[in-house]
Amino acid sequence: MKAIRFHGIDDLRVDHLPDPEPGPGEVLVAIEAAGMCATDTHILDGHYFAAAPVVLGHEFSGRITAVGDGVPASRIGELITCEPHEYCRSCLYCQIGQEHMCVDKKAYGVHLNGGMADLVVIPARLAYTIPDGISPIYGAMTEPIACSVHAFDRLNPDSGLPIAIHGCGPAGTILIGLAKLRGLSPIIGIDPRAERRELALRAGADVVLDPNDLSFTDRLMELTGGYGVTYQIDAAGSPRVIETAIRVAARKGTVLFFGVAAPEATATIHPQEVYAKELTLLGTAINPFTHRRAVALLDRLPLPQLHTATFGLDQAAEAFQAQRDGAADKIFIIPEGSSLHSTHNAAEATK
Ligand SMILES: [Zn+2]
Ligand SMILES: [Zn+2]
Repeated sequence: MKAIRFHGIDDLRVDHLPDPEPGPGEVLVAIEAAGMCATDTHILDGHYFAAAPVVLGHEFSGRITAVGDGVPASRIGELITCEPHEYCRSCLYCQIGQEHMCVDKKAYGVHLNGGMADLVVIPARLAYTIPDGISPIYGAMTEPIACSVHAFDRLNPDSGLPIAIHGCGPAGTILIGLAKLRGLSPIIGIDPRAERRELALRAGADVVLDPNDLSFTDRLMELTGGYGVTYQIDAAGSPRVIETAIRVAARKGTVLFFGVAAPEATATIHPQEVYAKELTLLGTAINPFTHRRAVALLDRLPLPQLHTATFGLDQAAEAFQAQRDGAADKIFIIPEGSSLHSTHNAAEATK
């Protein structure tokens, strides 16, 4: 099989590897689509640890083509997506039901071979069925949706109150969709890039703002009756966003840290503001057992609003360059054997 492998910093290769075979409890999956995300370029840049060499791709969908011992043969042919984490099951967190905090977790596409390949082997219990009628392209977005579902579990917002989503890329789009389903109002999309603000509006934001506008804070206050924003999500992973969010937060407001900031990034906060406004600063990480719920939301979210671009496995370099250039909202790798291969010609942008 062909696979896009990380061999070290700035060393990405398209390798020919022996076809993997499913062991007991495992399934062999023929990849339909593998999504790229910022993590993949962070790995290549050396800003996010990955075990080299490893097949990249932690967001993927595919069809089960073979099963190992103990897995019912009836699963062959199923369109699935993967919860891309293995937990050690013996550390403190694993033993108290907080597996995603596992001190020894391994992720497919980071420590274990992932989905940017013709084939991948994963445990059957991590393979979640995608319902009929859902495109495998959207199925491949289950992982970021599962992260967003967990984020809203953490935020646990009351309906009818304002929310601001800082950063309106693919994650922001999903978060806006979830905010809508939760009945938050108004939904405010914030992004310095005009095309991202347009995406936020298409995704269902009630109003969009440019944080660099001089009137930014005044507009936020106006939109919230002068009280500030009750719920805010940093989907950009930016220290500046955190600083802004604390400043414009309503009393009793919550700021959720969703985007992945650089490890060395620091933010300046005023403790008195957190104290006096009784703010809640919340972290959220990955997607503990939220894939099943994420799959159920695939056709309820504004995913068709994303401009996508697709590349073949041989075009790994072009695909990663397109990700860096922001050439599309979401980039997918489509192997030649995928049912999408004919409809999504390589490097064709669906604008
Ligand atoms: Zn990702
Ligand atoms: Zn553990």
